[in-house]
Amino acid sequence: MTQTSQEKPLRLEATVIKRDDHHMRLSDLSPNTQRVLKTLVAHNYQAYAVGGCVRDRLLGLSPKDFDVVTNATPEQIKACFRNCRLIGRRFRLAHITFGREIIEVATFRGHHVEDAKDTHAKQNRDGQLIRDNIFGTIEEDAARRDFSFNAMYFDATNENILDFANGMHAIKHQQIEMIGDIATRIKEDPVRMLRAARFSIKLNMRIDDEMKGIIAAHAHLLANIPPARLFEEVSKLLLSGRGFKTLLSLQELGLFKVLFPILDGMLNDPKGKEQLLIQKMLKNTDERIANDMRITPAFLYATILWYPMEERAQQLIFDTQLNPHDAMNIASAEIIQRQVQRIMVPKRFTIVVREIWSLQRRLQKRFGKRVFQLLSHPRFRAAYDFLLLRAEVEGGQTLELAQWWTDFQEAKDDKRANMLKALNPKSGKRPRGGKKRTKPKTETGQPSNDV
Ligand code: ATP
Ligand code: MG
Repeated sequence: MTQTSQEKPLRLEATVIKRDDHHMRLSDLSPNTQRVLKTLVAHNYQAYAVGGCVRDRLLGLSPKDFDVVTNATPEQIKACFRNCRLIGRRFRLAHITFGREIIEVATFRGHHVEDAKDTHAKQNRDGQLIRDNIFGTIEEDAARRDFSFNAMYFDATNENILDFANGMHAIKHQQIEMIGDIATRIKEDPVRMLRAARFSIKLNMRIDDEMKGIIAAHAHLLANIPPARLFEEVSKLLLSGRGFKTLLSLQELGLFKVLFPILDGMLNDPKGKEQLLIQKMLKNTDERIANDMRITPAFLYATILWYPMEERAQQLIFDTQLNPHDAMNIASAEIIQRQVQRIMVPKRFTIVVREIWSLQRRLQKRFGKRVFQLLSHPRFRAAYDFLLLRAEVEGGQTLELAQWWTDFQEAKDDKRANMLKALNPKSGKRPRGGKKRTKPKTETGQPSNDV
């Protein structure tokens, strides 16, 4: 295997925090998690709740999910439960299913570089782990975890907590502390930089200047992460209710521009429309999440990439005299194509991104039946919301257009007719010189976007 700048594997020892010295109790775990722990212990295995659920409980938050670790191998875990499925290729895990709740049970992971004969863990030239599936002891498992507050193990048999990296200190001092050498751990898995940003916002914790500097110096390594994984991580970062603050943190750490290289340089002006549009969108999204309203990654990407797409379309018009409609189609395809090389936004969302964009142009053309077709378009709501957002940032004609659509939706039939007449005095007819549409339409009535 490739030996990199990796230091000697960390050796951690547990500090036992007795049940009376902390306030987490067995009942803080979901009943099914308790069941899983009890069953494993009844089969004479070690089993602990670990990671986010312990950390969150100690911080007085409600955990998102419950992770269990054990010394039983995946096959041994499977033998203990009827409702168990083994998943994962990179590292095999057991999923124990109880109706809608799934408890993830992992076998303790071992060190990845210590044993020269080990053929299960591999690193690339940047020191990034690319394969890694050996089992180990609880101490090794703890050393593999990212931050000190994530290496705390709750023992269901006595309610003690095994704290391997002084996570309790991090929790008390609200400090993000990487386990081991910061640069080495970031090189092993650059996603840890994103996790640091996410936890600092979610848990209201500080990243100290040393870690900030190291993250900024290694930010470019995110480019090595598979784009599909980055899609998941970015969704967790920006679509979990604290997107606005997380954006600021990602920018401060120099991570945002690596995730969205197309925007590099466009966000330098803190009062620029590019910056403001993204900030407003994330504030809205946070509010929607707080109000249990639906959100979609399509709206996020449509917003973040809107101005780069517009700029590219303008350039195409200037360079090639393409008409605005075709220029926008080509620019949309190009910008999305470039972005998915870094963040693999699934097609079902990029299709919607393009619909929201192309509707921005169509919302300008307000005459006759078209207006009513637009109103019943499945993406009208998203496109209108996006127009409102742009209006706040751009003002001027965009604001007037957004106001028109707001009024039109609220108006009764006769007022609607008047509004249309006021725009197009020869009611129902296209303005003189208006071009007839020749593009084929999709079944939604939208022009096909094939470029
Ligand atoms: P949350 O579920 O609230 O996002 P979490 O800490 O539980 O937070 P998970 O992604 O569920 O995060 O991971 C569970 C545990 O696995 C973490 O607490 C951590 O110990 C470990 N872990 C996850 N990702 C990494 C990583 N990239 N590097 C090292 N350890 C990790
Ligand atoms: Mg978790």
